[in-house]
Amino acid sequence: MRLHRRKLLETSAGLAITAFIGGQSAAASTEGSCQPRDPLKNLMEGNHRFSNAWQEAGRNPSTNLGSELQNNRCFNAPQTLINEQHPWATLLTCADSRVSPSWIFDTTPGELFVIRSAGNTAFDAAIASIEYSVSILQTPLVMVMGHSGCGAISTAMGNSALTPSLERLITPIRSQIADSPDLTAAVRSNALGTATTLRDNSPLLREAEAKGSLKLVVSYFDLQTGAVTLI
Ligand SMILES: [Zn+2]
Repeated sequence: MRLHRRKLLETSAGLAITAFIGGQSAAASTEGSCQPRDPLKNLMEGNHRFSNAWQEAGRNPSTNLGSELQNNRCFNAPQTLINEQHPWATLLTCADSRVSPSWIFDTTPGELFVIRSAGNTAFDAAIASIEYSVSILQTPLVMVMGHSGCGAISTAMGNSALTPSLERLITPIRSQIADSPDLTAAVRSNALGTATTLRDNSPLLREAEAKGSLKLVVSYFDLQTGAVTLI
């Protein structure tokens, strides 16, 4: 059974803002923040809510997907977010407009630290950003997430002429999807390769994982079902 605590916060304009604190079953009791005890469990539970709403909206076009989500769940208080952030998971995923982590995991501002580029490649900027989130913000979970219908992976599987910048984007993907029989296999192979690149190129992440302060996982988001599965 879920317990909710509603806090009314008064703005300078005298308007009431409602914040729900400690909304999900896995939430800890940290006042004014949304810190789950088990980040991976919390992430997958959020995706389960999204997936159910996504499929219901698919069956019934009159369903308002937004109204199905983010009801009675944890929200960080605006006053907290103005001065600090304590995201509990870091996502490295694709820039695809349909792959919005906050949406897919039914989370709210201040919960996820997100790095995105087409094809979710671990470029230097991505590695540095993740090192920042793990070492400074102390996120205990990093997820690399590929997705169905990925245009970047499709491009990497093809032979189209590309601009020099696009070639640089696609080159590491090509090296990670060699011999993949189809797009789904290539997406999965690429995501797993990205996780390997993170471990190979970041002693900080390797050490954090080895001592147990970081969990690094890989997943696949299926647009058909809205479900994220670990791979
Ligand atoms: Zn993509």
